[in-house]
Amino acid sequence: MPELPEVETVRLQLKHKVVGKTIDSVEVFHGKSVENNPEIEDKLSGKTIGDIDRVGKLMIFSFKKEPDLFLLAHLKMTGQFFYVDMSGVVGGGHSMTEADMDLPMKHTRVGYHFTDHTSLYFNDMRLFGYNKLANAEEVAIAKKKFGPEPIYEDFDADWFYEKLKKRKTPVKAALLDQSFIAGLGNIYVDEALWRAKVSPMRRADKVTKKEAAALAAASGDVMKESIAVGGTTFQHFKDTGGENGNFTDYLQVFGQQGKKCSRCGTEIKKTRCAGRGTHYCPKCQK
Ligand SMILES: [Zn+2]
Repeated sequence: MPELPEVETVRLQLKHKVVGKTIDSVEVFHGKSVENNPEIEDKLSGKTIGDIDRVGKLMIFSFKKEPDLFLLAHLKMTGQFFYVDMSGVVGGGHSMTEADMDLPMKHTRVGYHFTDHTSLYFNDMRLFGYNKLANAEEVAIAKKKFGPEPIYEDFDADWFYEKLKKRKTPVKAALLDQSFIAGLGNIYVDEALWRAKVSPMRRADKVTKKEAAALAAASGDVMKESIAVGGTTFQHFKDTGGENGNFTDYLQVFGQQGKKCSRCGTEIKKTRCAGRGTHYCPKCQK
């Protein structure tokens, strides 16, 4: 499943490519991907994309002069966006397989065709993702489900510490709770905890103020660094240019069980915490 840095990478690329473009027509190849809303074609045709925002892993397309019309896009397990320019090349020349180049293909669920003859395709093999219409109220409700993101400069480490003190769950569970802080998935939580030298199993209310500050900073850094290199690599994930991200090269604990901790040389362990596979150094994470 793509994590937030992958979604953010896709958002930034899409923003660069489709903001300002006017939708000429919408082609729905599979109704489930648009929540079986027959209005999507009529509502979006003739509309110009104003911006692409994001909250958590949900992308929010807005349209010029349409304050009450939004398109919510979630990639879920296997969703991908592919942009096809006028020469028919996906994303502008990255290496792609023949099958990828030939869009729409069998996993293409929605096609947005722009007035300048470029297109954006939403492919989703497993059909858990969606592109759905929403109004301003629905967008506001969606945004309320997410806490602040440590990726942003204004993330408040003191607030974070005070909130952790009220939680008796393992700190890992707190970090995974999107309504508390948004954006950290399993991989990034493990990495941030390693950087901050905090054990995933530590009770959240036992984390010190200093550790909370380190954890807030590490969470933001891990995400930012991952976005800078295009995210981690997933089997079903490609960014809109068809390239796989490569943050996996930078992972210190996630998937590193049995290897030596790069900081202290102790063997990295894998266990289960907060219902998820959890990777940590038993010596330098307290
Ligand atoms: Zn260590």
